[in-house]
Amino acid sequence: MLQNYTETVVLQLLNSVLEDYKKNKNPNICTCERCRQDIMAIALNNLPPRYIATDTGEVITQVAFNQFGGRAEIITQLIKAIEKVNANPRH
Ligand SMILES: [Zn+2]
Repeated sequence: MLQNYTETVVLQLLNSVLEDYKKNKNPNICTCERCRQDIMAIALNNLPPRYIATDTGEVITQVAFNQFGGRAEIITQLIKAIEKVNANPRH
């Protein structure tokens, strides 16, 4: 099974990045499903995909997470995407 590792990490980090942003920068940002999807789409379009082959159902472990790195870059892109969506929410 082919998996885009970048997508997995974006999904894993979205909630905590959103919460931090809400707490520290702007308590009024919208976190509805629509905005979350937009944030993910923008962040993923700005990040290089990293495809890895896994056995069916295998979960990417914390070890893989650390091996690949790129976490800081993903957080940076998520924050940029949050700001973009919030400046112009599509609903
Ligand atoms: Zn929204």
